[in-house]
Amino acid sequence: MATSRPGFIRKTKQREVILSVLRGTDTHPSADWVYQEVRKVLPNISLGTIYRNLRILVESGEAMELAFGSTSSRFDGNPKNHYHFICDQCGNVYDLALPVDHGIDKKAQEISSHKVVSHRLEFYGVCNECNSSNHTPNRGS
Ligand code: ZN
Ligand code: MN
Repeated sequence: MATSRPGFIRKTKQREVILSVLRGTDTHPSADWVYQEVRKVLPNISLGTIYRNLRILVESGEAMELAFGSTSSRFDGNPKNHYHFICDQCGNVYDLALPVDHGIDKKAQEISSHKVVSHRLEFYGVCNECNSSNHTPNRGS
């Protein structure tokens, strides 16, 4: 594979655009959604570049990755620990304004020989939008 060297400035620019797209939404988008948005500004960017930069942003603590097992990860421009509500029906991810429980790390540490560093907490249910459209005929039947 030929190595293209886009140069530091272009790399920085790409990452800036990706981060501003991430910070400009509260929908916790997938990498693919970020790709579609960033392409509006940088039409030649590749999905691979999006993935690579998202990885760097997560590793450098500027963004957060929400991994959900087999489904594709969602990304969050707010890297500080906070809780989420996930709709079982549409899969949308919402911020949940519950104060982060720092004491729970200590409690977990007390009963564990592992070194506890942080925790992640997600709530599941049915979002407002799905709840209000649930009077339409059920799928399945
Ligand atoms: Zn929903
Ligand atoms: Mn969030």
